[in-house]
Amino acid sequence: MGGSANDPARQFAAAWEAASDALSEWAQRVGDATNEALDKIEPAVRAAVEAGRSAVTGDWRDCRCQCTTAHPDDSGVCDGRAVMARRVGEADVSLCAPCAVAQGFAEMKG
Ligand SMILES: [Zn+2]
Ligand SMILES: [Zn+2]
Repeated sequence: MGGSANDPARQFAAAWEAASDALSEWAQRVGDATNEALDKIEPAVRAAVEAGRSAVTGDWRDCRCQCTTAHPDDSGVCDGRAVMARRVGEADVSLCAPCAVAQGFAEMKG
């Protein structure tokens, strides 16, 4: 809406937020998920993922999730393609969609 709306990170944040409801639904099904889960991803989540992939370049491309510690129960879900960043301490950690879900999933359980 505003003049700063073409900031890619801001656009992606908005898209991600819009998808969060669908994402949390998807998270409930991700339990035994592999990368195949991406094929079943909700349309709204897919839109956010695509927005992220087009908005994000360079260092963002690789998922930096510490899978075995961040979400040990779902450590196999990582697809390595970062679509978002999560604030961890003072650093932004790039995460792929499955890892983002898995981390949220782990926190909900925790
Ligand atoms: Zn991970
Ligand atoms: Zn990952």
